[in-house]
Amino acid sequence: MTSQHDGPTSATRYVANQLLLGGESMELVDDGVVDVVDGAIVWSGPASDAPPVGPDVRNVDIPGLLMPALINAHCHTPMVLFRGAGEGLPVDRWLKEVMWPRESKLTPADVRAGMALGVVEMLSNGIGTSCEMYFHADAMAEAAIEANFRSVITAPFIEADSFAGLGPISQQLEAAVDFANRHAEHRLIGAGLGPHSAYALGPDTLASVGQLAADNDLLIHIHVAELPTENQMVAGLGSSVVKVLDELGLLTPKTVAAHGIWVDDEDIALLAERGVGICHCPVSNMGHAQGIAPLQRLQDAGINVCLATDGPASHYRLDLFEEMRTALRLHRLNNHDAAALGPADVLAMTTCGAASVLGRPDLGQLRAGFRSDMVHLDPDQLSFGPILSNGDIIPAIVWGGSRAAVRQVWVEGALSVDNGLPVDASITELRAEVQSRARTLAQP
Ligand SMILES: [Zn+2]
Repeated sequence: MTSQHDGPTSATRYVANQLLLGGESMELVDDGVVDVVDGAIVWSGPASDAPPVGPDVRNVDIPGLLMPALINAHCHTPMVLFRGAGEGLPVDRWLKEVMWPRESKLTPADVRAGMALGVVEMLSNGIGTSCEMYFHADAMAEAAIEANFRSVITAPFIEADSFAGLGPISQQLEAAVDFANRHAEHRLIGAGLGPHSAYALGPDTLASVGQLAADNDLLIHIHVAELPTENQMVAGLGSSVVKVLDELGLLTPKTVAAHGIWVDDEDIALLAERGVGICHCPVSNMGHAQGIAPLQRLQDAGINVCLATDGPASHYRLDLFEEMRTALRLHRLNNHDAAALGPADVLAMTTCGAASVLGRPDLGQLRAGFRSDMVHLDPDQLSFGPILSNGDIIPAIVWGGSRAAVRQVWVEGALSVDNGLPVDASITELRAEVQSRARTLAQP
């Protein structure tokens, strides 16, 4: 397919009615300008302060709000192939009886088709980056690159009979490091190691993953304390899953831990001390009836917590607007406090906070030195406003935001979504291919 993306090497000035610079302060300016050269933001701020530019600089007018693209820090995107399967089962049975038998049959072409459709859905929802734990890394990368989407792809390791066809874990680890080396300088693709969980792998394998990650300076992406029974499942190895993972060398500042629900004060202190980032996935956790992550206690301990969708077979949708709203409602209700969590907090968790969890301090803000991953939102939406002052804008994005408001998305300076639709893909074709492959994979 021939790419329709505008060239990332061109120098471009984006002139927006309103510009959300992002960051913890969620700074917002009226009549804002973002200057981009070769995918990097070189200047941003009020138009009145903008430096002069030459006639060769392209001008892009944004008649709405320009904001950082959202970041989905824990996902298994090709599971769009399995949406709805095993509905209503508890997670351990859902994985072992429904997901893993189907996943063991996946071909690279299946994964590529699932990733391509899921990426289009994420882009259409204003997401510019995902962190993935899934099989067939090269097929995942191809689909992401084709759609001009940024993805950190971590190869999953699971010791279960159904995955014997993937070969010995040592071979899978070697392939994961090879993938990481081949993409070390890639503009869109990052890499890491994705040991599924402490209960899906033996301690020797977990220790070797930790060692390999340390030797190659790679992210470790792992499910931690998701199941109510997870601490008991590793009881032979230590008093909690967090302590077991720490002993095996898997808790580091480069660890991306999904869920973190069943943790006590000692676990929280240990996660904070090791600098582990946590991906909070409230929609998935509520759907699977797993429990409520102690968000405030995690954050009060200094842990960087971001929001993520988890896989689309758990969440159904790849939608961080929904995730932000769900987090607000859940923690306000759980704390009996309408001020427990605010729209600016969850928007930060889904932009700069997620970038920090992924070890990418150059993502999640529209400031000089950051990559130009940006979303143009149209505030002229049925579910937006009224906007009476700038203080109403972030609540409108979080409470009223949806795919309907996403007009354009740029990743690494190139256009991926225009007029709310993917630049480089046919949704009809992608859906038909996923439908056909899903039917085949569902056969016993
Ligand atoms: Zn997950």
